[in-house]
Amino acid sequence: MLELPQEVQIYEVGPRDGLQNEPAPVPTAVKVELIDRLTAAGFPYVEVSSFVHPRWIPQLGDAEQVFEQIQRPAGVRLGALVPNMRGMERAREAGVDTVALFVSASETHNRKNLNRSIDESLANIAEVLADLEPGTWTRGYVSMVFGCPYEGDVPVADVARVATALLDLGVDQISLGDTVGTGDPRSVRDRMAALAPDLPLERVALHFHDTRGTALANIVAGLDAGVRVFDGAIGGLGGCPYAPGASGNVATEDLVQMLDAMGVSTGVDLEALVDAAAFIEEKLKKRLPGRYLRAARGQYCTA
Ligand code: MG
Repeated sequence: MLELPQEVQIYEVGPRDGLQNEPAPVPTAVKVELIDRLTAAGFPYVEVSSFVHPRWIPQLGDAEQVFEQIQRPAGVRLGALVPNMRGMERAREAGVDTVALFVSASETHNRKNLNRSIDESLANIAEVLADLEPGTWTRGYVSMVFGCPYEGDVPVADVARVATALLDLGVDQISLGDTVGTGDPRSVRDRMAALAPDLPLERVALHFHDTRGTALANIVAGLDAGVRVFDGAIGGLGGCPYAPGASGNVATEDLVQMLDAMGVSTGVDLEALVDAAAFIEEKLKKRLPGRYLRAARGQYCTA
């Protein structure tokens, strides 16, 4: 029988991981309002933007302005993705004290996504980490942990090597990503059991995509494996621009609702979250994939 913890932490990544995939540019003021709503809703972490070069991700080209304009309430980590030293300089100038770094467990995906080998990425991350202001909190994303569209199965030894390298470099937390949503509860259980001897679970988060409808089930498997931090994106925004067919982070409000129903505390105000999801859905002028948003607003299909 499933042993449930009393509480878990939910990290909201939608403003970065979601909005980077929107085809139409989202006005800075809309991003700022969304982020302010999310920080007010009670998350311990909101990923605000990315300091990748605007040529690659023009959707987040206003990272400086967003950081300038958002509220920065105490107790909420406001993260930025930093791809390289130039991005780190921009982040520092913007007063960022929470930095996310990226590497893939799949060599082919890493080369397609970041244009360099895994080892080159790890060297690049080491360089950024060595240059951080004291007190900066860091999160290392490992993508393609549960499979890769280019390589298929990703050996768990490859995941362990990359994740351990990040922890050894000193990142505070790693987030293991099911970037294309190919994980299932059994593979989550097996993979976490295989990784547990190498990885301190209190420094591990899981990041699931709902591409095939398995994200919440995978999260329950992750809970059962002892993980206590899970990523979500408001409304189910986002995917991966370099992973064909990938779409949709797990919708944060679906995740919070499920945990609330299971009696697992998240500290997140579900009603505020639904309002924030409705807000960004209206601004994007399209229906978002989150299910609870429909249910909470009485838009069930009754037929
Ligand atoms: Mg994602």
